[in-house]
Amino acid sequence: MLFEQGARDTQEQGEIRRAVRRLCADFPGEYWRALDRDKSYPSAFVAALTGAGFLAALIPQEFGGSGLTLADAAVIMEEIQASGCNGSACHAQMYVMNTLLRHGSAAQKEALLPQIARGALRLQAFGVTEPDSGSDTLALRTTAVRNGDHYIVDGQKIWTSRAEHSDLMLLLARTTPRDRVAKKVDGLSVFLIDLREAVGNGMTIRPIRTMMNHATTEIFFDRLAIPATSLVGEEGQGFRYILSGMNAERILIGAECVGDAKWFIARAAAYAGEREVFGRPIGRNQGVQFPIARAYAQMRAAELMVHEAAALYQAGGAAGAEANMAKLLAADASWAAAEACVQTFGGFAFAEEYDVERKFRETRLYQVAPISTNLILSYLAEHVLGMPRSY
Ligand SMILES: Cc1cc2nc3c(=O)[nH]c(=O)nc-3n(C[C@H](O)[C@H](O)[C@H](O)COP(=O)(O)OP(=O)(O)OC[C@H]3O[C@@H](n4cnc5c(N)ncnc54)[C@H](O)[C@@H]3O)c2cc1C
Repeated sequence: MLFEQGARDTQEQGEIRRAVRRLCADFPGEYWRALDRDKSYPSAFVAALTGAGFLAALIPQEFGGSGLTLADAAVIMEEIQASGCNGSACHAQMYVMNTLLRHGSAAQKEALLPQIARGALRLQAFGVTEPDSGSDTLALRTTAVRNGDHYIVDGQKIWTSRAEHSDLMLLLARTTPRDRVAKKVDGLSVFLIDLREAVGNGMTIRPIRTMMNHATTEIFFDRLAIPATSLVGEEGQGFRYILSGMNAERILIGAECVGDAKWFIARAAAYAGEREVFGRPIGRNQGVQFPIARAYAQMRAAELMVHEAAALYQAGGAAGAEANMAKLLAADASWAAAEACVQTFGGFAFAEEYDVERKFRETRLYQVAPISTNLILSYLAEHVLGMPRSY
């Protein structure tokens, strides 16, 4: 097998990888193709991952989770993708939970984390993006105004994925008007919204159909009243909390892209050896070999950067640059591998039964979300290389 182990797997990570691979074997291409056709949610797959404890990987043992590291969680997400499955249905549970873990009160953690760990509560949704703010998160307009022992939420979110399949949602909203804050990163706050109570009582969810099966939605708030105890951490500090969660998200998504790249490379290399045209395997032609080999090298480099970023994050260091680079390099590697795989399969790449076109559509997202390639490049230019801010 081509990708039996990861570049830096510890013995325990090797075991995690094999366990995830065994679980994923029960969810083959047919399963994902059927869901893709109907745009339905992989409930059985998510239930299996939850049951096996993988979605509670980052929850400390004292709260009923496995207490694993971000690097271990990255192995889980990578292997899901490398097995041909789609982790986007559930990846948020890992990094959204991290904001609660790092910044939530003792009461919030005790009430919620054990339930999330055993699968009784789902924390899958993360509402940051708005139609008019996009990459400019600080321009978001959804407001949460304190009124006695409640906050009243008004506004709109877009691309809030998995909201229909989650019990709780982490919301970023403005609690102080933008023109009244000392620093532009102040004035935003994070709330944990109980979707079971909110939907129909000031909150409406509308699904958005997309080119891949992603269960994403838009959300409307119309004077939604939420208890003041929904606030996570300190009022006005939410953007900082979200940023640290976003680094974890970028590292895990980088790992998913590495997994996608492995899937495409393994498929392409195998097919190139089998498919005969002009009386010989197409893989004998360097024009077929080189793009696959190049994607392999790109994937290996990205894998190391994901590893480096995860180690830095885990050690509590400032992992912004590494997390962004891991996501950038991994998304580029998975896209290069996807391209090479489509080209290698020729016409057959376009037939649903090979899963290449499905994975191709799925991995394309990561050039745009959760942060676009351009915005990572401008982050590196400004914050690492000291060049002038471009926007
Ligand atoms: C399927 C899907 C699922 C998603 N899930 C979630 C979710 O669960 N929760 C959530 O909050 N959000 C989610 N998002 C939103 C995602 O994070 C945003 O799409 C992403 O941040 C980009 O924002 P935008 O789409 O508004 O693009 P825009 O900000 O409008 O940007 C459009 C293009 O312009 C470029 N651009 C913009 N400004 C600059 C600049 N200054 N310099 C150079 N280039 C620039 C960008 O790179 C991009 O290519 C999801 C999106 C999708 C498509």
